Amino acid sequence: MTNYAIHHTCGHSVDTNLTGNCQARDNRAAWLAKQPCMACVRASEAATAAAGNQAQGLPALTGSEKQIVWAEQLRCEAMRRATAAATTQAAGQHESLRDDLEAMAARIISRQVSAKWWIDQRHGLTRVLSLLATPEDRTDLAAIVAKARAAAK
Ligand SMILES: [Zn+2]
Repeated sequence: MTNYAIHHTCGHSVDTNLTGNCQARDNRAAWLAKQPCMACVRASEAATAAAGNQAQGLPALTGSEKQIVWAEQLRCEAMRRATAAATTQAAGQHESLRDDLEAMAARIISRQVSAKWWIDQRHGLTRVLSLLATPEDRTDLAAIVAKARAAAK
């Protein structure tokens, strides 16, 4: 293991331990020097997730700055999965169904603004909708599906 001072494209310099033979370490160091540092990559991913959540009309999260950065990515992933599920469920049905299901998912997901709650759910992001859904949501869901079926006829 050899320590390299990598000067990343973002302008940060990071001491990095590299393993392998001399050629492998040099190649890895050269490749790393063409990338932004991990802190900047993570910050960029967090900003993208936060912007995506904001674009979907989701409210700001509460918690520490570190919790919020993590939770924004989890909430973004939960929304992505909900959108994918809506697309699957609406396949071959009236086109309004997907939009209605997606809007409903966003409405349900927007209820939980605790960053800690999202972090606690990190291993079960596919079930957050059922955790957050109210009996009224289930009634609304039935109405949305019935409306789409009626429109398809
Ligand atoms: Zn950086």
